[in-house]
Amino acid sequence: MIPVNEPVLGKREKELLATCIDTGWISSEGPFVKQFEEEMAHRVGRKYGVAVCNGTAALDVSVAAFDIGKGDEVIMPSFTIISCAAAIIRTGASPVLVDCDPHTWNMDVTQIEAKITSKTKAIMVVHIYGLPVDMELLLSLAEKHGLMIIEDAAEMLGQTYKGRACGSFGDISAFSFYPNKHVTTGEGGMILTDDDILAKRCRSLRNLCFQPEKRFVHEELGWNFRMTNMQAALGIAQLERLDECVAKKRRMGQRYTELLSDLEALELPVAKTEYADNIYWVYGIVLRDEFSLNAKEVMQRMNQNGVGTRPFFWPMHKQPVFQKMGLFKGESYPEAERIARRGFYIPSGLALTDQQMERVANVLHEIIK
Ligand SMILES: *Cc1c(COP(=O)(O)O)cnc(C)c1O
Repeated sequence: MIPVNEPVLGKREKELLATCIDTGWISSEGPFVKQFEEEMAHRVGRKYGVAVCNGTAALDVSVAAFDIGKGDEVIMPSFTIISCAAAIIRTGASPVLVDCDPHTWNMDVTQIEAKITSKTKAIMVVHIYGLPVDMELLLSLAEKHGLMIIEDAAEMLGQTYKGRACGSFGDISAFSFYPNKHVTTGEGGMILTDDDILAKRCRSLRNLCFQPEKRFVHEELGWNFRMTNMQAALGIAQLERLDECVAKKRRMGQRYTELLSDLEALELPVAKTEYADNIYWVYGIVLRDEFSLNAKEVMQRMNQNGVGTRPFFWPMHKQPVFQKMGLFKGESYPEAERIARRGFYIPSGLALTDQQMERVANVLHEIIK
C-alpha cells in the first residue's frame, strides 16, 4: 500500500528528542518551545510566535484573541477544513462564505466585497493545497473597510505570494504541524503576529488565562493548548530542512504533472500563477464533468490497487453540523460543490519515492482508460 502521506524524520529529530529526555525537559516549560517560536517567527518574518498543541487550536486562539463575538461576521471560503468555521462559531460570531476560484481552488476574492456588511469584522484567508490566495484585492478591501485578517497558512509554510512569505499577511496567522504539513511535530500548531498585545492575548488564552500575579484567579476563560518541549524539538529539527522539503514538494508536483498530463479526464493543479509557483502541499486532482466515474469510485479503485487517497474538503455550507444549527440555509457555492464531488488527492508525503509516483500514475491510467 502506498500511503497518502508518510513524513520524513531524521537523525537531528532523534538528537533533539534525546536532549528532552536527557535533561528531563518534556513539558511546555522546556527551552525548545521558545526557540521554535522564535525560529518560526524569524522564518516567516514576524515578530512573535505562540506555539500551541495543533493547528485547530491555533485558529481557535487566533479568532478568540480578537474582539469578535455575537452579532459579528467573518468572511471565509466555503471550501476549507472545519477548523476555520468552528473557530468563528465558537466565539458566537457568524461565518459568511464565498465560493472558490475554479482553477486555483482558493477563495474567489472577487466575491468578497459583496459580502461585506456593517457587521463584518474580519476576513479569514485560507491558502489551499498549493497556491496562495490572490491577496492584493483582499488586502485593499480589508484596508478600505477596516477589517482584520486572520490567515490560515497551515498548508503554506515555505510558500510566498509575490515574494512575500505566506503567514506574513494576517494580523494573526495560524500554522499546523500535523504529519502531512511541511514541518511536523506529530501534533502541533503556531500563531504568528507582529502585534504585541495580540501575542500576549494568545499566550494567555493558550495557558488557561492564568495571571502572573494571582495565578489561580481568572478574569477570562482560556484553554490548555500548550505545546510540549518534545514537539518543539521535532519542529526545530524539521524547520532546519524546510527549504529542502519545499524543493522536494515542487519536484514531486512537477513529476506527477508530467506523468498525468496525457489524461484528459483529469484537471491537474495549476503549476504557477502570476503571484506564485505551486508548492503542491498535496497533489489534488479534479475529475472533469465528462468523465463518468465520480471521485469516490476512482478513490475506491485506487485503494483496491494499493494506492491511498483522500477526498477534497467538504464545503462548509454542506456540513450537517452547520445545517442543524440553521446556518447557510439555501446557500449554494457551485465551484466548491463541484470540486468537493469531483476532487481527491493522491500520495503526496515527503517520503514518497519516484517509483511509487510512477506506480500511482500507472494505476490512475488503468482506471481512467
Ligand atoms: C491541517 C490544517 C488545519 C488544522 O490543523 P490541525 O493541526 O490538524 O488541527 C487547519 N487549516 C488548514 C488549512 C489545514 O490544512
